[in-house]
Amino acid sequence: MIKKIGLGFLAVLLLLASILAVNTLRKGSQQINVAPLAVISVDVAAVAERLGEAVRLKTISVHSDPKANQDQFEALHKLLQQRFPKVHASMQVERVEDLSLLYTWKGSNPSAQPILFVSHQDVVPIAPGTESKWEQPPFSGLVKGGFIWGRGSWDNKGNLMSQLEAAESLLVAGFKPERTVYFYQGADEELGGVRDAQALAKLFAQRKVRLQMVLDEGLVITDGVLPGLNRPAALIGVAEKGYLSVILKFNTAPGHSSQPPAKGTSAVGMMSAAIKRLDDNQLQSGIRGVAAQMFDTIAPEMSGFGRVALSNLWLFGPIVQKQLESGAATHAMLRTTTAPTLAHAGNKDNVLPGLAEATINFRILPGDTQESVKAHVRNQVEQVVPKEKYELFTMEEASEPSKVAPTASAQYRLLQTTIREVFPTAMVAPGLMIGGTDSRYLGEVSDHIFKFSPVIATPADLPRFHGTNERIAMSNYADAIRFYHRLMSQASKATGN
Ligand SMILES: [Zn+2]
Repeated sequence: MIKKIGLGFLAVLLLLASILAVNTLRKGSQQINVAPLAVISVDVAAVAERLGEAVRLKTISVHSDPKANQDQFEALHKLLQQRFPKVHASMQVERVEDLSLLYTWKGSNPSAQPILFVSHQDVVPIAPGTESKWEQPPFSGLVKGGFIWGRGSWDNKGNLMSQLEAAESLLVAGFKPERTVYFYQGADEELGGVRDAQALAKLFAQRKVRLQMVLDEGLVITDGVLPGLNRPAALIGVAEKGYLSVILKFNTAPGHSSQPPAKGTSAVGMMSAAIKRLDDNQLQSGIRGVAAQMFDTIAPEMSGFGRVALSNLWLFGPIVQKQLESGAATHAMLRTTTAPTLAHAGNKDNVLPGLAEATINFRILPGDTQESVKAHVRNQVEQVVPKEKYELFTMEEASEPSKVAPTASAQYRLLQTTIREVFPTAMVAPGLMIGGTDSRYLGEVSDHIFKFSPVIATPADLPRFHGTNERIAMSNYADAIRFYHRLMSQASKATGN
């Protein structure tokens, strides 16, 4: 009898193992094979020096003062004119609002939809007290040890300058695009693009411009970041999360702290209960949408148990999800995140305040909306606080999640091909952009908006982004120019619409 059960168990085990194996092997690679590309020649020392010059200009954008560092932005404009003479002779350059620039490289085929490359001129400041931790001064733009150092070398003067380098060299070679090619270089991206990027969207709408493709900064080529993957992964952002800050105000009669009201009914008590409730009951998490697409593409490239698990989410889904939820970056891909960011109440230790106020910031996953998040907040808060005791407001700076750009498109395929041509060891997968970019405002003028920067980042590099010791390798920078060079020459061909 025991032997029979044992055999039965073994049979089930074998069946399960074969299902797992079949599922794992059935999911073949989605990577496309490309013919090796002849290396596009780049004068690495010269381009590195020019990026260094751009980094030296302190184009820090400031929320409270839109005019701050205007001279630095103007100096950058002048530098671009001097360093890219062909670009400035061949393209129309106009200002969007005050300091943002829009370049128009007119195509020969007026019926073909234009393409747009987005980057930004402005940079974030250096966190006070961290200046001395930089190996090279943050605005030195020094070219040293194989790197271009300084704030903006990666985010985002690296993109801005490499795009113009590519265009300049195409012009020198006599290249003429069929599609019109635009370059937008924002001056307020780090402030949310509320002023200029929104104005750009309006400008395109007014001129009835429909864009065939938009490429903005975004996800990068991660190297050694994804466990179980032994090759670099170039992630193309195909969507961007939305943004909503909810302000909750809890009202009660103020009073003396010697005679507090019943448990949980003080303003601070209600606020705390509401925050705790929202933190404990977050919006639904799951491997779906863009995250599912991403893991589906990455799984066949992985080795070991990771590959088996990601290929068999029907069985390992809960384990994989738990693992992903334990990392802040991967967690943010799975759900609309809940982040309590501000709390204010009271002004004296022995007075019960009549008002307590909390702000909770949500980053909205495609599929959820500002309205659905607000409904969730009301629903949860009212489990612990009477309806009449609180009010809900939202901050003005808010955006819905972007549309998801289709990956079954000529545009995505071209991007994928170009990445594989220039970075042949990398695999390519769609991904979700967690932070905000200027192209979020362009959803009305294009269905094919991608967020990708041709920058290679190891785990040690990730903190350099907006952080200390920002830099880019000279070899990487040269490849970024090759990437844009190749993409511009291919994408501006007017095949299709
Ligand atoms: Zn940026």
